[in-house]
Amino acid sequence: MKKKGVNRRDFLRLSATVGAGAILIPETTASSLSKNTSNAAVNQFPVRTLGKTGIRIPILSMGVMRADNPNLLRAAYNSGIFHFDTAHGYQNGRNEEMVGTFFEGKPRDSYFIGTKVKFDYPLKDNFEQDLNEKLTLSLKRLKMDYVDIFYAHAYSTTEEIGDSRVVEALKKIKEEGKCRFLGFSTHAHKPEQIDAAVEAGIYDVILLSYNFKLHNLPETDAAIERAAKAGIGLVAMKTMTGGTEDADGKKKINAQACLRWAWNNEHITTAIPGFTNYDELDECLAAAGDSCLTDADKEYIAGLAEKEMMFCQQCGECKKQCPEKLPIPDIMRAYMYTYGYKYSQLSKETLAELNLPQDLCSSCDSCKVKCPSGFNVGEKIAAITPVMQVPNEFLT
Ligand code: SF4
Ligand code: SF4
Repeated sequence: MKKKGVNRRDFLRLSATVGAGAILIPETTASSLSKNTSNAAVNQFPVRTLGKTGIRIPILSMGVMRADNPNLLRAAYNSGIFHFDTAHGYQNGRNEEMVGTFFEGKPRDSYFIGTKVKFDYPLKDNFEQDLNEKLTLSLKRLKMDYVDIFYAHAYSTTEEIGDSRVVEALKKIKEEGKCRFLGFSTHAHKPEQIDAAVEAGIYDVILLSYNFKLHNLPETDAAIERAAKAGIGLVAMKTMTGGTEDADGKKKINAQACLRWAWNNEHITTAIPGFTNYDELDECLAAAGDSCLTDADKEYIAGLAEKEMMFCQQCGECKKQCPEKLPIPDIMRAYMYTYGYKYSQLSKETLAELNLPQDLCSSCDSCKVKCPSGFNVGEKIAAITPVMQVPNEFLT
């Protein structure tokens, strides 16, 4: 394709009309912020269609979750990233506020926003009121009348996906115009959740963990294919297996190889890496500019197959073994946020939601859990739970 300058509106028009493959993204103004973004080759992103929504978006999106610098958001936007993912709970609402302040006044069709609200399951009596109050607050923080995707945040069970109260509440939100599309996110790594979404019939998008460490990858890929055929858009998170470094914190993860591996599945519409600085953004842009999985990528990924990473499979085997029936998979996710993402505030928030007992693990002289992924669960719990006592101002 011949190179030419296009503005973001042109980009959106183009992205709605061109077929699969690379399209040109506007010349960036972010070169002073992000060293590689002035490189036109980097800014040629393939676009894919987000299921039955018909919206075509670049394969690279931004998970804003940990970012707290609006200039990084600007660099991403000016680099051609179109889809930005946040949530009601991120940074106690400051994440949505930053996104709202940045996009205020920008053409509404020049960006695509997803946000999420979490609720307890089994549902409480005030579930719908609480859900709507949180969404209203999210829209206020975002300074928007609607979000493009509204996600139920972090479903852990299959039942809640098709629960009639959940389905009715979500449908009402869409009918009232507070969102264009509905979705849910999940950390549970359960292919049956994907099938339940197809059956429920109301979900346009699923945001799910997708990386080469998934223990049930063949089953997940098969369910993803069924969902894609049913018109559901698939958005990938945790493509880098839950951190920027290996489990010892010694070796940097090859972000480009990880992203290319995820994009190699044609049914993954886009990925939302949570870059927090310009170097990480540049890595992601470089991957999107050259998105075909290489032999070197395959070799790198094969070399990690047997290595312990930050990525807990959420398989739940530990819960069966633990005499205190602790929510270990969630605690491991909190561990990953601090030691993988370097985001200890989110660990504290995650642990606070779990209502853990004060005398955690007091019934054991040594941890009884034999994790199939080789996690030393007792050590990890001891390393992460003290974060609950640390004042927020000292946390990253
Ligand atoms: S800690 Fe181990 S056993 Fe527990 S959910 Fe994670 S991978 Fe499975
Ligand atoms: S030490 Fe291990 S087995 Fe014992 S309560 Fe804690 S997590 Fe459960």
